[in-house]
Amino acid sequence: MAASFYESVRGYVEQASALLEVEDDVRILLAQPYREVDVQVPIHGNDGSVLSFRGYRVQHNGARGPFKGGLRYHPDTDLDEVRALASLMTWKCALLDLPFGGAKGGMTIDPATLSRRELEAVTRSFTHAISGVIGPNLDILAPDVNTDARVMSWVMDAYSSRAGWSPAVVTGKPLDLGGVPGRIQATGRGVVAVTEATLAALGRSLPGQRVVIQGFGNVGRHVAEIAAERGAVIVGVSDVSGGRHLPEGFDVPALLAEIGPGVLLKEVGVGDFLTNAELLGLDCDILIPAALENAIDATNVAAVRAPLVVEAANHPVSPEADTVLADGGVTVVPDILANAGGVTGSYFEWTSNLTEFRWSEERFNEQLLDFMARAFRTTWETHVERRVDLRTAAYMVGMARVAEAVRLRGLA
Ligand code: NAD
Repeated sequence: MAASFYESVRGYVEQASALLEVEDDVRILLAQPYREVDVQVPIHGNDGSVLSFRGYRVQHNGARGPFKGGLRYHPDTDLDEVRALASLMTWKCALLDLPFGGAKGGMTIDPATLSRRELEAVTRSFTHAISGVIGPNLDILAPDVNTDARVMSWVMDAYSSRAGWSPAVVTGKPLDLGGVPGRIQATGRGVVAVTEATLAALGRSLPGQRVVIQGFGNVGRHVAEIAAERGAVIVGVSDVSGGRHLPEGFDVPALLAEIGPGVLLKEVGVGDFLTNAELLGLDCDILIPAALENAIDATNVAAVRAPLVVEAANHPVSPEADTVLADGGVTVVPDILANAGGVTGSYFEWTSNLTEFRWSEERFNEQLLDFMARAFRTTWETHVERRVDLRTAAYMVGMARVAEAVRLRGLA
């Protein structure tokens, strides 16, 4: 049986700590989550009956700063998934040299089956349930799969109703509530920046490259938009309903204009329809999985034809598939580097909230590219010097920093 998501991440963590020769006392602290909250989240449904959901917040490691991580609503979300995502956040924040530890939250819920009122009620109920372990200097939430600026507003309001005005408890907020311009595009902008840096290191460049993107939500849409602006040709896109293929490349602004809220790609009349399985096997130069974990696994990896895979989603490539891709000479840019623009933008927003100083979009984007470039450089140097793949290099950089913070604080 394939390893679970969390077991897979633990495997990467163990591999990096062995290569870094991290001492056992520290290794134990890095391997295990600091705190796990698993709560009942009850609300009254629209018909007056009680609906009860499970909600989770896992705080993996806080040696370098307050815990930081997104909040996901998905019917398949469980504690194992949230644990794995929390661990990824620890290494991602450290790799980007952000003053945060790693956390993640999630609820086992299908938001498509809830009314707006029920979604708000469930968000407020969950926020109250975890309010004792979150806060601007304790644990800061952000959007993830199926959550957005509106959900973040409810989190902020529910928390602030008890603790007083606390915009810094959550990032990815609307601009009128302390959000910062640039944050919504930040994950996508970072993905494109890291893709360009990788291509440059490989002696190539983005203009003219044929790109396929799996997942057309907050991350995938902005990757498509920004990559196209920078000269890439977007030949395939997909969402949960399936995908669209256009070998000559989409007019991305026109495609985005057709995809309003709730509109699926299967309903769009441009390009040829194809399944997600077919999309992964398209002839292209760059494949960007931007949907969910394990999208590329042992069962479908043989179909992948792209020589470069950039992990915009968290853990979209299973360890088994990762090995097959490496054996086939495919370069894989790991999630904790590729999609770190989101948490980096969240760091700017948090800073802006704490200092009550507004950032301009120009400053935001300039700093974002600067942080991404530094993280890429350090990862690439480690990859070359230690002769390890990019994922192992990224884990090693992040882990070395967390391990040092653990030692300096006298935690181990
Ligand atoms: P989202 O909910 O906005 O979008 C998810 C997209 O994936 C949707 O288009 C959905 O239809 C599609 N999808 C779902 N199941 C699919 C399937 N089986 N096949 C193909 N497509 C499918 O979520 P998002 O915020 O864009 O997050 C996507 C990924 O990026 C997640 O792994 C998330 O953890 C990661 N991520 C997000 C952020 C952020 O800022 N939002 C930051 C870092 C990493």
